[in-house]
Formats: sequence, structure tokens, C-alpha cells
Amino acid sequence: MAVILALLALLPALLYTGYEFSSLNENERLLGEVYIRQLEAVLFSANQYAWDISNSWAGSLELFLREGKDDSGRDSLARLFMQRNPALKGVVLIDKEGNPLNYMAAPGAQPGLPVDLRAALRSEVGMLERLIRYRESEYRKLEPIVSEQSRAVMLVFATGADGDAAAAGMVLDSDRFVRDVIGRRLMRIGGEEFVLAILALPSDSILFSTSEIQPGTIQQKQALWLFPDMQLGIRLKGATVQEVVEARALRNIALIFILDLILLAGAWFVYRTIKREMEFVRMKADFVSNVSHELRTPLALIRMFGETLEMGRVKNDEKRREYYSTIVKESERLTRLVNNILDFSKMEAGKKQYHYAPSDLNAIVSAVMKTYSYHLESKGFDPVTELASSLPLVSMDAEAVTEAVINLVDNAMKYSGESKFLRVATRAEQDAVIVEVEDRGVGISREDQKKIFDTFYRVSSGLVHNTKGSGLGLSLVKHIMDAHHGKVEVESTPGAGTLFRLVFPLNKKDITTKQS
Ligand code: ADP
Repeated sequence: MAVILALLALLPALLYTGYEFSSLNENERLLGEVYIRQLEAVLFSANQYAWDISNSWAGSLELFLREGKDDSGRDSLARLFMQRNPALKGVVLIDKEGNPLNYMAAPGAQPGLPVDLRAALRSEVGMLERLIRYRESEYRKLEPIVSEQSRAVMLVFATGADGDAAAAGMVLDSDRFVRDVIGRRLMRIGGEEFVLAILALPSDSILFSTSEIQPGTIQQKQALWLFPDMQLGIRLKGATVQEVVEARALRNIALIFILDLILLAGAWFVYRTIKREMEFVRMKADFVSNVSHELRTPLALIRMFGETLEMGRVKNDEKRREYYSTIVKESERLTRLVNNILDFSKMEAGKKQYHYAPSDLNAIVSAVMKTYSYHLESKGFDPVTELASSLPLVSMDAEAVTEAVINLVDNAMKYSGESKFLRVATRAEQDAVIVEVEDRGVGISREDQKKIFDTFYRVSSGLVHNTKGSGLGLSLVKHIMDAHHGKVEVESTPGAGTLFRLVFPLNKKDITTKQS
């Protein structure tokens, strides 16, 4: 049953968990892809912008070169243009062989073309030819040459002129271009959503960023087309895609886990309830068979001895007396059993009434011992009765308490085995009067001690198994003690004996009026 229940509860939970996990991963992959695409698109647009700006500058310069009436007119136009665009440090005109013809420096900039750029130009004749060819077919392409010496990039393009100046180069101050031109644009693109940065290669140090960013947290990078020594980088503001996805996954997993726990707890609860219910049903069935047996045995004896006496077959007086006493003893046993069952059904229905009156516990106990003395002796017991010299009167239902004590004495006899020891004692404590019933019989295991007060519960091993009983006695005792605001305690060692203690509290004025 436990396995079936666990499967019933767990299987759907496990299947659902598995499904959730797989769809979680799939969702996250999709989500991740969408984010990455978005980041790529942003980077692309930044790159495109830098390209467009440079291209439009190249267009303007080309126009000045063509329109300038003479060298000086051309120069001054170019200078004016450079003044307006401070990232431009100079413009150089180049012949087909890659020789610089004329270098126009921006106001305040270094007057000469950086040496390494001059050298690089001559080694790039192939590139110049290619650019000129493109230009002939109306396509202006820009090719970057990085200056190692002076954080500058020269963007070379074909001018489309027939003369000596077949090509031109715009020398850009890299840092300034990044900051003033691309940076401003990045600020706009990034907005509230993204952090954009420009990184220097190969160190990946940050040259510019739209807001604070750690190089390690950049999610997507793209080469900056015009600046081979730099890269564009981007990440989401706040949490990264990874973090967002991870947090979501964690939350979902926690929820699934809690759901699984709740299902398990539910399964466990159902299992426990069913198990208890089944146990109760079994105990009830045992009870019926036990009680039938308990009723049949004394009835059979009474009838047998009664008939024998009736027929006048017993001549011997002593024998006759023995038969009479057996009849009395057995009918007492019957009465006790029937009383227990009646009491039990009343208690079950909540109809048991207690009639409280100040009573002497000593008197109750000695009456029980007197009634039982013959019974005890015939079973080989020599009971020890230790009554306290004086006990305060306690408000109690004498009949019910008698019932409780009888049940304890009866149990002590039933579960004593070979040992024939019984001690019944009363004593007063500061706030209670107490009666103890002690035997040296089979004892009760610690585990069973917790259950013996349950209705119908009987220990199902050893001697106890062979001793008949209804399983009602101790639950009645407990009920009676509860009604008296008292308690019943048990101390027992298996094989050594058992002590039951009934504790009646003093000064409970409400007891006198209470009816349960
Ligand atoms: P029963 O009719 O079976 O005696 P009780 O409710 O009186 O029912 O007792 C419940 C169980 O507690 C008994 O079946 C027995 O196993 C155990 N028990 C009660 N009293 C004693 C005792 N004095 N010594 C050992 N076991 C006891």
C-alpha cells in the first residue's frame, strides 16, 4: 500500500518535474537566443553608425578635394572641416604608389604624418589598387591602418580623382573618435536597457563605456569594423541574461521542489490514515472474537456446574461449595466484562456520567481487595496491600474508580505468568492522592507502553497473546482518570514487571460539580 501510494503521489510529481526541467531548459535556450540576437543587433547598429560617419566624412573630404579651386582653397576647406570634427587629426593625399603627397594637419595637431603610417602606406599598394578599382565602380570603401606609435587610425579611401591624389587618408585620434563620435551614439542606443563598451585589443581594457561595467561581465562582443585594435561589447543593464535565466530556473526548481514535498506529505498523511484505519478494523475484529470467547467460557462453566448441582449429583458438601463459588466467580467475571463493554459504549457515545462525591481512596481499594481476595488466592497470589495511614477525601466517582482499580488488579493477575506477586498501595502527596498496582509479570515494552491505552489495543506477543481480553480495560481506566483531571502512569520493564499509578489531583473544586 505504501509503495502504491508513494507511486501514485510521486510518479506524477516526478513526471511533472522532469517535464518542467526539460521545458525549462528549452525555454531558457530560446530566451537566451532571443537576447543574444538582440545584443548582436545593437552592436551591429553601433558599428554601422561609425562606418556611416566615417563614410560621410570621406564624402565631404572628397568633395573639398574636387571643389577646392587650388591647393590652398582645398587646404582651407579641409582644415575647416577638421576644426569642426576634432577627432580628425589630419588628412593626407596619396598617389597610386602609396606615397604621401600632402599632409594637412588639423589645427593644434602634430604637423607630420606619423612615421609608421607613412611606412605602412607604401607596403599597402595592393590595397590602394583595390580601393581605386572599387571607386571606379562607384563604391567607396574605407580601409583602416592602425598606427602603433600614436593611438591613431588612418582610414584610407580612393578619391575618384584622376590626378596625382588618387587616394586619401583620414588620420583619426582613436580615443577621441571613440569617445566623441561612437560613444555619444552608444549612449543613445544603450538607453536604460544595455551597457555598451569599447574595449582595446588584445588586453580587453575598457576605453569607453556607457556606464560602469566589468570586462568579465560582457556578454556579446563584435569587432569594430573601422578600428581593428578595438572591439564593441554589450551586456544587459542590471542582471545578465545568464543571471536572469538562472534566477528564473532556480525559482521554478524551488517551486517544483515545494510542490513535490507537499505531494509527498499528502501521500504520507493518506498512508498513515489508511494504516491506522486498517489497524483499527483489525483490532475491532479481534475484539469481537475475544469478547465472544470471554463470554462463552464463563457461561459454559456456569451452565455445567449449575446443571450438575441441579441434578443433585453432587453429594459431597465441600465439592458443592466449590461449584457454587465457581459459579459466583464466573458470573463476577461476566459482570465485569459486560460492565466494561457497557461503560465503553457509553463513553464512546459521550453519555457516561460521573457522580462525584468526597471519597476515601483507601476504602475503595480495600473493598476491591476484599472482593478479589478469594479470586486472588485461588490463583496463587498473596497480595500485599499497603494503605496510607490517612488520606484526604477526594471528590471522585467511587464506582468508576473501583472499576479502574479492578481493571488494573485484573490485568496484574492476567499478565503475571509464573510470578504471583501483587502489591497495591495508596499514598498521599502534597497535591495528589495516588494508588499503585504493581506486579512482577511479563512487563510491557517501551513501544507498547504508548499504545496500551488505545481502545482495543492488545499486545500481540508471548504470554499476552494467549491471555484473553477485550483491549478495553486500560482505555476505560484512562477515560476515568481524564474525567477526574488525573492521570494514569505506567512504569514497566519487559520480563521484570509493571507498575500502574493512578494520580488524583487535590483541590480541584470543579470536580465536585463536573459531569463528563
Ligand atoms: P486486555 O483486555 O487485553 O487486558 P487492556 O486494555 O486492559 O486490555 O490492556 C491492554 C494491553 O496492555 C493488554 O493486552 C496487555 O498486553 C497490556 N497490559 C495491561 N496490563 C498489563 C500488565 N500488568 N502487565 C503486562 N501487560 C499488561
